[in-house]
Amino acid sequence: MFYEQITEWQPRLTESNWASFRGADVERVLARETLRPQDLAVLLSPAALSYLEPMAKKAQALTIRNFGRTMGLFTPLYLANFCSNQCVYCSFHAGNKIVRCKLTVEQALKEGKAISSTGLQHLLLLTGESRTQSGPAYMEECVHALRPMFASLGLEVYPLSTEEYRRLYEAGIDSVTLFQETYDEITYAEVHPAGPKRNYHYRLEAPDRACEAGISAVNIGALLGLSDWRRDAFYSALHADYLQRTYPGVEVALSVPRLRPYAGSFHSSAAPVTDALFVQIILAYRLFLPRAGLTLSTRESPQMRENLLPLGITRMSAGALTSVGGYSDTANVGSAQFEIADERSVPEVVRMIRAKGYLPSFCDWVNMREKDAVGL
Ligand code: SF4
Repeated sequence: MFYEQITEWQPRLTESNWASFRGADVERVLARETLRPQDLAVLLSPAALSYLEPMAKKAQALTIRNFGRTMGLFTPLYLANFCSNQCVYCSFHAGNKIVRCKLTVEQALKEGKAISSTGLQHLLLLTGESRTQSGPAYMEECVHALRPMFASLGLEVYPLSTEEYRRLYEAGIDSVTLFQETYDEITYAEVHPAGPKRNYHYRLEAPDRACEAGISAVNIGALLGLSDWRRDAFYSALHADYLQRTYPGVEVALSVPRLRPYAGSFHSSAAPVTDALFVQIILAYRLFLPRAGLTLSTRESPQMRENLLPLGITRMSAGALTSVGGYSDTANVGSAQFEIADERSVPEVVRMIRAKGYLPSFCDWVNMREKDAVGL
């Protein structure tokens, strides 16, 4: 299991080790065809910050070679925001007085129709962690209802058992997104003071369970800025590498969420991830994992998303809302999870992608388990 690699690397990921790398180490890594974990560490070190340009050139070339000039588009649909956890960085925190609600299956269908009318065919379904309000059976009902309207459905919810993932896969879920938030066990315990999410290991092993259940694609990542970003970025990429090697039939992707303002007052004591460091992380991910998808959400500003687009990103959310409901005229709009920085509509995002010389892709995967999916 991946935890063994975390403990193995832990003693080496120290401030003095990061600082020991020199420009010559970065140049040696840039000349290599295939990178090892020790090369990833070099690319995340302070020394690599002076090499963003050559890193970007190589990252762009690798991305075009492996993915072409295409950009996959998707949007999130929050089904419910009830949550029994108290993650200090999230507005859905059980102790926060926000408008809580849950879409009925009919409302979810209405939201799905509104999203589908924009042309988007990849939908990501989200809930907070509440087994009573949004348990696997409820998710299954929503998946059955939405399945015929979309080419693929992804799930970003709390960690499930292998059997639950299998049932949702059979219902029509293709991909699972699950962020470890931080790989640092001490910070993890601090920022998750109560609720089932306190179980670090159950969360860490969830992508393995999803892969074992037959899910076609997994998307992982750390919430950058929550803890020491270098260690979290290193472990995120190492985790993706472990999943690629262990489950060669599964498409593995990394997301790069950065902490965003929310309804509450949490300020991480960790060093913030500046724009330059954020670019460094994305480039290091791309060079270490040339065939992994890289997903960028609307947490980032329009300008940042435009600038990052050619550097290795392969999927973007568009026209996204982080509230429960709101795509259609459904009155059931619950509070949002975090503030969105890129509020552009789907056509606006499409125009931006085309202007950058890329082809926006509404559909790069079709789930053929349902013969009526997207009218096929
Ligand atoms: S991050 Fe997820 S589990 Fe934590 S409070 Fe927010 S919705 Fe709940």
